[in-house]
Amino acid sequence: VLLLAIESSCDETAASVVKNGRTVLSNVISSQIELHKLYGGVVPEIASRKHIEKINQVVKEALDTAGVTLDDLSAIGVTYGPGLVGALLVGVAEAKAIAYAKKLPLVGVHHIEGHICANYIENPDLEPPFLCLVVSGGHTHLVRVKDYGAYEILGRTRDDAAGEAFDKVARAIGLGYPGGPKIEKLAKEGDPHAIPFPRAKIEDCAYDFSFSGLKSAVLNYMNGCKMKGEAVNEADIAASFQQAVIDVLVRNAMQAVEDYQADTLAIAGGVASNGTLREAVQKACREKGVRFCHPSPILCTDNAAMIGTAAYYEYQKGVRHGWDLNAVPNLKLGERV
Ligand code: ATP
Ligand code: MG
Ligand code: FE
Repeated sequence: VLLLAIESSCDETAASVVKNGRTVLSNVISSQIELHKLYGGVVPEIASRKHIEKINQVVKEALDTAGVTLDDLSAIGVTYGPGLVGALLVGVAEAKAIAYAKKLPLVGVHHIEGHICANYIENPDLEPPFLCLVVSGGHTHLVRVKDYGAYEILGRTRDDAAGEAFDKVARAIGLGYPGGPKIEKLAKEGDPHAIPFPRAKIEDCAYDFSFSGLKSAVLNYMNGCKMKGEAVNEADIAASFQQAVIDVLVRNAMQAVEDYQADTLAIAGGVASNGTLREAVQKACREKGVRFCHPSPILCTDNAAMIGTAAYYEYQKGVRHGWDLNAVPNLKLGERV
């Protein structure tokens, strides 16, 4: 089974050819980061226009690199939500056009399901059930993967997503967009225990997260330094902030591992490429005798290979979308439209 997958939910135009769900023949990503950097974040209108400019070229490159043509394909997979509506529409329109012209089945995929499925690519023996900590730019979910395509969200953020917190704190320190990798780099020069930032605990759900208080604490700390005329140690702030995020993510994930007696914990999403987070989860899993799975960094951030993997399992289950498939900006995980 050979799938062409397309991803355009945010600021990456991506296409990939995936064989039998887990073998990636090509993984082409055209990132718009340099463009959005100028504005300190993703500008939706610019993202849509850039996707339109790039999509044909990216798809062609994915096919060429894989050494296949459209005639070799079994189906087309595409992200149809959640994400920026104008950005999603470009991928959905492209996928529909190819599927219609080549009389191929069309399989719409949930972007976060894609992030989770990225774990299957480099862990060929990984199979559900397992727990997955999804930490991306727009989501922070603790998910029970019960089966292929069957998800139960145990916990979620009440406010900011983990990646969003990284981006906002990076902006406050003056590091620019995207904040995650920059905070990680600066944190290496700082002391993670220098500043006692809060680790929020949600009283009525041990698996839920909250990061907006942490973000405010960082801002207050910086203002406090300025008022007192003290120098702001940015590296200590970055390290202490990052440690606070990691502590909370690990605490809640391991609570779920214990409560559900899970034997495997996976991580997914852009923040999962953070080396310090990976080490912390690895250590916690080792202590509990639990298997730890993670995609390599390039498969953590947005890409189409993960969409190809997710689409494959949906395709195998018989999921097919019609020509009325539309972008659904607020699509919920586990929901089919
Ligand atoms: P979503 O997947 O929720 O729709 P998205 O697609 O924009 O959102 P991803 O591409 O999965 O998000 O991840 C991007 C996020 O990951 C950004 O917030 C970015 O700052 C963060 N990120 C990337 N690399 C790192 C890192 N090394 N450390 C921490 N955060 C990181
Ligand atoms: Mg992105
Ligand atoms: Fe994403």
